[in-house]
Amino acid sequence: MGYFIHTMPNTPKSWAMLHCKCPRCRRGDMFKGGVYRFGSNKILDRCPHCNLYYEIEPGYFYAAMYVSYALNVAEAVTIALLTFIITQNKTSPWLYLSTIIIGCIVLSPINFRYSRVMLLYWLSPKIHYQAQLDTDDQAGNV
Ligand SMILES: [Zn+2]
Repeated sequence: MGYFIHTMPNTPKSWAMLHCKCPRCRRGDMFKGGVYRFGSNKILDRCPHCNLYYEIEPGYFYAAMYVSYALNVAEAVTIALLTFIITQNKTSPWLYLSTIIIGCIVLSPINFRYSRVMLLYWLSPKIHYQAQLDTDDQAGNV
């Protein structure tokens, strides 16, 4: 895309996903407040920058449960492996169960966010990144 000489450098997709930015403009936040502020871990209705309506269909975020489930499974496996590497324990299932359960509780706010981020970035063919919205000025109603 080097021939767009006058455009701003685009926000990298990985950076935007990591910081939970809007999938369309990569500028506006998707969530209110910090990850570990319980009670305020809520997805915004619309992107504050480009006004994209995040829940593109009624009940759209039910699909995020499947993403969240996949994340949980991956985390449980990782936690179990780490527990084994650290403790070398081969006999106590309770050790593994408790570290997995504690780990999943600690990680649940992260799962909540990133399951929605992944859903909107990877599993939503209707939402495309629009580089012209990736600017400092407010694009307003588009
Ligand atoms: Zn946006």
